[in-house]
Amino acid sequence: MKSSVLAFFIATSAFAQSIDSMIDRELPALVETYKAFHIAPELSRLEEKTSATVATRLRALGYTVVDHVGKYEDNAACYGVVAIMKNGDGPVLLVRTDMDALPVPEKTGVPYASQNANVMHACGHDIHMTTLLGTASMLAQLKSRWHGTVMLVGQPAEEVVQGASAMVRDRLYERFPRPNFAIALHDNASMPAGRIGYCPGYFMSNSDSVNITVRGLGGHGASPQSTKDPIVVASEIVLALQTIVSRETSPLDPVVVTVGSFHGGAKRNVIPDQVELLLTVRTYKPEVRKRVLASIERIAKGIASAAGIPDDRAPIVEVSKTEATDATYNDPALTDRLSRALKRDMGADNVVQIDPLMVSEDFGRFGLDRQIPICMLNVGAVDPAKIASGARLPSLHSSEFSPVPEPTIRGGVKAMTLATLELLR
Ligand SMILES: [Zn+2]
Ligand SMILES: [Zn+2]
Repeated sequence: MKSSVLAFFIATSAFAQSIDSMIDRELPALVETYKAFHIAPELSRLEEKTSATVATRLRALGYTVVDHVGKYEDNAACYGVVAIMKNGDGPVLLVRTDMDALPVPEKTGVPYASQNANVMHACGHDIHMTTLLGTASMLAQLKSRWHGTVMLVGQPAEEVVQGASAMVRDRLYERFPRPNFAIALHDNASMPAGRIGYCPGYFMSNSDSVNITVRGLGGHGASPQSTKDPIVVASEIVLALQTIVSRETSPLDPVVVTVGSFHGGAKRNVIPDQVELLLTVRTYKPEVRKRVLASIERIAKGIASAAGIPDDRAPIVEVSKTEATDATYNDPALTDRLSRALKRDMGADNVVQIDPLMVSEDFGRFGLDRQIPICMLNVGAVDPAKIASGARLPSLHSSEFSPVPEPTIRGGVKAMTLATLELLR
């Protein structure tokens, strides 16, 4: 090893250690911040107090903050936060946290459990906000180590995939600098706390919401011959929809068709007039997405027709325009650059490649259809001893999901700080 290279490695590892001690100093306050977010969760689109806390804290750290950024289609108040720190010439980096919680009654039993009935930070967006604030503080202290503009974004309404679009619609990139890169972090309910996961290319799937109204001809439950029973027809549709995955799609293309809600009928001896099915559909490739949605309509209508339901009572198949989001595509070059930098400073064992997921996110909207390279990293949130024990691990959105605060926040702040320093060095 050349001496200049050796000196570089010694310098970087010494620097990584000094970052560790800076984070250690901040950690007790950050854990308190996390618990304060966790105890007072707010649902999607209602993040008024949460966003005010994020804005106030970023202002106190020296950022120029604008709140109430975002425009929903129905013109409801929108609680997006944008915080800018300009530090000389250089690239613009967008770092995003989401802020909303879920309609889940908390069952973790932790002392800082939610005090808002039936609302819980069950997806860890409280971890993300805390990590963003910790990173913001580190960057404010490390101004000699980076050049450019940091643009921190507090995004509302991620769980209903409306917040990112609302912020872009509110002229985000005209009112504020257009970023050269956008990064984000999400906690992970199966990785050891503090470990970082990355996935180049497709990371999270397209998500579509489909409603099917199966219309029959109702009547007496004892006289099926004079009816067209929508419960039987809808049942056949539910089963046949699975053949889209198993018989119409390449086994190498991931697809999920889930009927999460099946509603019809009110009394055992009455054949109802109609049944409502609510579906979520997950895909990756655009052409697969288009074909799967078309197949759902074809199968629903075909089965109804085979059952003798007249054309004017054919199923109504609606694909939601608002409850949908595109796949999250991590720019491969950006992901490679970040994973190399993080491995160098956090150790290769602590930064690992992970598989794509069939959950969805609207973070990709900040990339404007791949015009701006984006990368979402994961941070493990689970006690390693619990993973080793083989115990069942509550998933994200579970009423029992409970990240281990200290190591998760430590890993998140370190990774996002190092990622920023790499991109703005
Ligand atoms: Zn979620
Ligand atoms: Zn989430």
